[in-house]
Amino acid sequence: MRYGIFSDIHSNLEALEAVLDFYKKQKINQFFCIGDIVGYGDNPTECIPIIQELLCPTVAGNHDWAVIEKFSLEYFNSYAKEAIIWTKGVLSSEEKSFLDSLRLVYQDKELTSVHSSLDAPSEFFYIDNLDSALRCFSYLETSLCFVGHSHIPVVFILDRANNLSYFSDNSFEINLDKDKRYIINVGSVGQPRDRDYRAGACIYDTEEKTVSFRRIVYDVASSAKKIIKAGLPSFLAQRLFLGR
Ligand code: ZN
Repeated sequence: MRYGIFSDIHSNLEALEAVLDFYKKQKINQFFCIGDIVGYGDNPTECIPIIQELLCPTVAGNHDWAVIEKFSLEYFNSYAKEAIIWTKGVLSSEEKSFLDSLRLVYQDKELTSVHSSLDAPSEFFYIDNLDSALRCFSYLETSLCFVGHSHIPVVFILDRANNLSYFSDNSFEINLDKDKRYIINVGSVGQPRDRDYRAGACIYDTEEKTVSFRRIVYDVASSAKKIIKAGLPSFLAQRLFLGR
């Protein structure tokens, strides 16, 4: 099986379409969405139905929850807050109930997915150092865990002797070792923050035992222009070009 795994779309329709175009050529059997479909961008009502049509296991992100008042706005900076309030105003009750239906953690025989960390998933903690990665590993029951949230692609690796290592790269391909466990942050489709503006798309091949992470060029100028036209903070448009 080939899984297409992606996260943090953030209402960026151009980036989402470019990623799905890329996946079309990749013979994907099943998609997984790691949350934050909405927030920041101006196309929440376009992105939600696209995700629904993929019929993919989708976990809730902090922005998805904030829009439906399941997560407090006090945790967001002023730009994010403004976009969440804007999004709340444009979503239909059906779209909101879809966000409300999302689970926090997905787990099957192959993998686990969670937007932030398995350590209190509803608190949306970041896995941004070795301690927080270890805390997540301590709850992990599968050998693979896919996460998003930080918008920065990074792979944490734990071996049987409990040695923890990590690397971060704007694109990568890893051969999975059956004696190791992995937490893989699949970066962001709609708002990367590793200083590479291109959209992130991850592929897990269960037969080849590989995980690859690719970057996809998209029409960032058009996304940025629309954010400004929608009356959202111009900072949210500018940062798209910088990938930060
Ligand atoms: Zn996000």
